[in-house]
Amino acid sequence: MNFCPNCESVLYLTKDHLFCKACGRSFKFELLSSLNIDKNLDTTIASSINYAQLEVKKLDDNKYDDRVKILKSKTLTYYHFFPYDQFRESQEDLIKQISESAKARKNILLIAPNGTGKTVIALSALLPLAIEKNLKIIYMCRTHAQNRRVIKEMTKISKFHDINNLDIKLNGLSIRGRNEMCLNDTLLALKFNPREAMAVCGDLRKNRSCSHFLNLLKKKGELENLVSLEPELFNKPVDAEDLILFSKKKKLCPYFLSKFLLESMKVIICNYQWIFNPFIRELFLKFIGQELNNCILVMDEAHNLVDVATDVNSHKITPYSLRLCLKDLEMYPSNVRLSTFVEFLLNTLNQKKKDIRAEEKAIKPGKFLEIIYKKLGYHDLNGFKNLIEELHSLSVSIHEVKLSNGQISRDFLGSLAEFWLKWLKTYILENYFFCYTIKRVKGKKSISLEIVALDPREIAIPILKRAYTTLNLSGTANPYVYSSLMGFNECGKSFKGIIADSPFKKKNIKAIITEGVDTKGVNRNPSMFKKIIEKINEVIISTPENVGIFCASYKILRGLLSNGIEMVIKKTNKKLFIEEPGLSASENIAIVDDFKSMASNGGGVLLGVSGGRNSEGEDYPGDYMNAVVIVGIPYHLPTPRVEAKIKYYDQIFNKQGWNFGYLYPAIQRANQASGRPIRKISDKGAIIFMDSRFKDKSKWISGWIRKEIKVIPDEPNILIQHLSSFWNNG
Ligand code: SF4
Repeated sequence: MNFCPNCESVLYLTKDHLFCKACGRSFKFELLSSLNIDKNLDTTIASSINYAQLEVKKLDDNKYDDRVKILKSKTLTYYHFFPYDQFRESQEDLIKQISESAKARKNILLIAPNGTGKTVIALSALLPLAIEKNLKIIYMCRTHAQNRRVIKEMTKISKFHDINNLDIKLNGLSIRGRNEMCLNDTLLALKFNPREAMAVCGDLRKNRSCSHFLNLLKKKGELENLVSLEPELFNKPVDAEDLILFSKKKKLCPYFLSKFLLESMKVIICNYQWIFNPFIRELFLKFIGQELNNCILVMDEAHNLVDVATDVNSHKITPYSLRLCLKDLEMYPSNVRLSTFVEFLLNTLNQKKKDIRAEEKAIKPGKFLEIIYKKLGYHDLNGFKNLIEELHSLSVSIHEVKLSNGQISRDFLGSLAEFWLKWLKTYILENYFFCYTIKRVKGKKSISLEIVALDPREIAIPILKRAYTTLNLSGTANPYVYSSLMGFNECGKSFKGIIADSPFKKKNIKAIITEGVDTKGVNRNPSMFKKIIEKINEVIISTPENVGIFCASYKILRGLLSNGIEMVIKKTNKKLFIEEPGLSASENIAIVDDFKSMASNGGGVLLGVSGGRNSEGEDYPGDYMNAVVIVGIPYHLPTPRVEAKIKYYDQIFNKQGWNFGYLYPAIQRANQASGRPIRKISDKGAIIFMDSRFKDKSKWISGWIRKEIKVIPDEPNILIQHLSSFWNNG
């Protein structure tokens, strides 16, 4: 069996290449040797985790006398869940600190770079407590690849138990959303968002139209516990991919199979939505069979949660959804005012789409309501409130009629009613912002009307308060800003912040801030772009293989292109790859894969943006990226939304609005991009911050990079000198 070099899932054989269903990458046969892939293809799929590759040793009684003694005792400790021979530097100390703080039910923040072994640290620190107190561990990650890493670590722990004859049962399951697990052709064909998919799946089940669900219900009736469907698989840590493969074979619904199994699982691995979306959380906890106060929450890449917590609390409507609302109102008898209301919204959005030239336009929400209720002939807001209640009831009855006719459709009227109920609830609150948002993708303009939540604490605090304990993991979060934005000090629990030492050898990291260049608005002229390109050229010619260049924005990226970066890179004989806005996921994957393949093919240069999918979601270990250049500080455009956030944060965080709402997100994007080449303990990489303003902001740069940082004067060839000696010294 062959495994994806990117995300470690099983590779499937197609006619002329190997394909990874998990991350969507294809690998040509010519690349097999450079990727160290087995050419004797074996397509029988048993598991996406390569158990044979998971090296775990039996502890030798003589060599590890004390540890073996502890393992034989009945009291569970972190030693029982640490599957390696020995702890790497500071790992044991971190485990002890987390374990003590978790017992005291504190909220914990661990700041540690990749390579520290955060997953095994978290699991071995928390599993003894979870077993002793009969708690569940809910381990939240951002991507499927990160989920798989947790399952892989758990599989090692489970294997460690087996070969050392420890009688400990450890199971776990990684789960995905309905859209990613569903096997029903009707639902798959219609490409719903998660909320709509939930409603349609509900209809299919009520109508007994989903055979996969009916097959599963039959099995559930026959068996006391669904683990006995396949004990070999479900008594061990199991990845969503494995569960889907098993369900396909047995023609069962994988989504509900995973839900029905949750109650039997000790560790559940999922994305943030399952806990951070209040609507999803309540149903999820019902399936788990536990209250949140009996759950330990682990939040991987926790810096993402600030945005997740505001996004789940924000809402929008678009002309597309309004047109479908009108269709329903035409087909079913309803108050004529409802059609007038929807038509008014649709006309307003279409007109604003033509008029608005910027990215956003703020709306006075109270004034907007007044315009609407007057337009509808009401004297005050009460008439409008009643109309929205009426819209809500109508959406329920239309839905029931459709269901009884066997129709499957999306409930746009219900979503519209919920949007306006939220508007009516929040329009006088300072922690919400209301606007028209304009997007331009591949020259096409679109508009939406939005309610934007500004305060992540509204969602985060109830979670931090209720959970048994939480462990927040990040390599880049600023502890002061993160803990303030999430509300650690206001949730009624103690907070423990831990900053780990860098696990990387000094000789493997070169970090530089360059003097003499910046991307300030007033300095964006051809001579500045040319100077930046000269410095980038010095980096490229003194780097062995691949270089990543992440610009502050697409505007800066285009500035480099129009000032001749392509020609300069061509002369270095390295191949240039350009990330463009609006690329589909598969188009982007193809670019990144080609770039990575240049690591053994003469070297490549990836030109993208900080905060983009290639500077945050993608890893480039080994020679996939030897050096990264951060061109400019990636500040967000000062849109009305950003200004509203700064103003609001100024009020609630003691005049820290600019730092928390503007500087921190920008530096966070730069920190994420700058860590791309260093993913494993053995990686060697150069990080170049190409903007002199980073000098004044250096205290915000990730600690493990900051401690190696040098400011280089604005002199020709000085980057070549520094980087050549770095790469030539072992
Ligand atoms: S029951 Fe399962 S297979 Fe059927 S529509 Fe719902 S998610 Fe899809």
